[in-house]
Amino acid sequence: MSYTPISEIELIYRRVSDTFNSGVTLPLAYRRRQLLQVARMIQENEKALEGAIYADLGKPKFEAMLSELGPVASAARQAADKLEEWTRPQKPEVEEWRNTWDTTIYTVPKGVGLIISPWNYPYIICLCPLVGAIAAGCSAIIKPSELAPATSQILAHLIPKYLDPNAYAVVLGAVPETSTLLNFKWDHIMYTGGIRVGRIVAAAAAKNVTSLTLELGGKSPVFVDGDNTDIDIAAKRILYGRQQNSGQLCVSPDYVLVPRHKKAALIAGFEKAYKAFYPDGPLAPSSHIGKIVNPAHHARLVSLLERTKGKIVLGGQTEGDKRLAPTVVDDVKEDDVLMEDEIFGAIVPVIAVDDVEHALRIIRGRPYPLVSYCFTESEETKQKFLSRTNSGTMVFNDTFMQLAVHEIPFGGHGESGYGSWNGKFSFDTWVHKRGSINVPIAADPHLAFRYPPYSEDAYNF
Ligand code: NAD
Repeated sequence: MSYTPISEIELIYRRVSDTFNSGVTLPLAYRRRQLLQVARMIQENEKALEGAIYADLGKPKFEAMLSELGPVASAARQAADKLEEWTRPQKPEVEEWRNTWDTTIYTVPKGVGLIISPWNYPYIICLCPLVGAIAAGCSAIIKPSELAPATSQILAHLIPKYLDPNAYAVVLGAVPETSTLLNFKWDHIMYTGGIRVGRIVAAAAAKNVTSLTLELGGKSPVFVDGDNTDIDIAAKRILYGRQQNSGQLCVSPDYVLVPRHKKAALIAGFEKAYKAFYPDGPLAPSSHIGKIVNPAHHARLVSLLERTKGKIVLGGQTEGDKRLAPTVVDDVKEDDVLMEDEIFGAIVPVIAVDDVEHALRIIRGRPYPLVSYCFTESEETKQKFLSRTNSGTMVFNDTFMQLAVHEIPFGGHGESGYGSWNGKFSFDTWVHKRGSINVPIAADPHLAFRYPPYSEDAYNF
């Protein structure tokens, strides 16, 4: 992949800034056209886009459509449909003494945006935020990940062909190119990726007091409420979520807590699901298990499996330097190597706990995760999770499917990030709610009481 020359980056930044300042991106008709072009870009280039993501991640066509391209196209169409509703100025209800004033909340674009995205979901994570930016009337530059070169390259090729190239641009590159971009003054930055780089981006944004959305990761826990859930379905749904994109998913269920007396039943549930998902073996072509993004990440996962003190009960096989079978590790302890950092691979550590209180103590002892998962039919346990844990999202009785629900915000909390996107929330990210009042000249007699010299009698609220 050839990177954007550093010398050109400032010109690109100037171009998209000038375009925003010219007002071109503001009319709703313009925004609608650009949004529909995003959907058209996907529709007309489906095969090439699928091919690129297969090259980067071995992602099967089904997953590419279901969790990347399909949702982007429908987000773009939905935003095009909803533009009037989302941008309509609001007239809040006011106290009676101010009801002759014109009080309005305008929804205005923040301005010029920067979207820095990771390799693991290389389309949806940069294009859904872009949809929000377009709908809001912003201009934007996308910086996709250098670790997913085929998808980055195709975006750099297609975006200027389908969208207004003066308003929307792709910069390709790694640390020097991203650092160059971060030196400019932006009106909003949206960063998705790991926490280490998140801190760098936050520091750069702070220099210019730029608003920021940070979509980070972390270890998302799963609690399986032994006596109050269908263990086999819980196991199937956990394994399903964990093996998505070979576990390289920010909302992946990272570790499983289960009451001690139900652990064997859960492991048996994993065995059943495993056989059903991969009848020819986990690395057979029919299993549709994709690739780990590069040999370094593969070696990191293999090393975790070598160093864990837990017992590998399912999977563990590797193939070449990029494939790893989904793996279930039993008898993992809280201080195990698998419990240190976000695993970001299809490994499921299973930890026995005494009861729900023990599980809550473990979860509360760690930073707020992106998601908390809990399998239970008990209202009491649900309430405990809702009131005594915190996370970006709370999901009961499934994994991964929250991403299909566009009516809830997708984002983190604490160390898993801040801000959100998804459906209208993507639009909200890129707008400023600008309050406005217009106090009629004719109202002056009613305001006479406020002018000096003050009279104590006037104060009778
Ligand atoms: P990555 O290595 O692709 O990095 C992300 C982006 O940061 C890339 O565009 C990269 O070029 C840029 N970058 C890297 N180093 C930089 C530096 N020193 N200065 C400036 N920019 C730099 O992706 P990653 O960080 O490996 O992504 C995986 C992480 O992302 C995981 O922790 C995962 O949980 C998280 N993630 C979060 C979400 C979410 O929505 N919350 C979604 C996907 C991934």
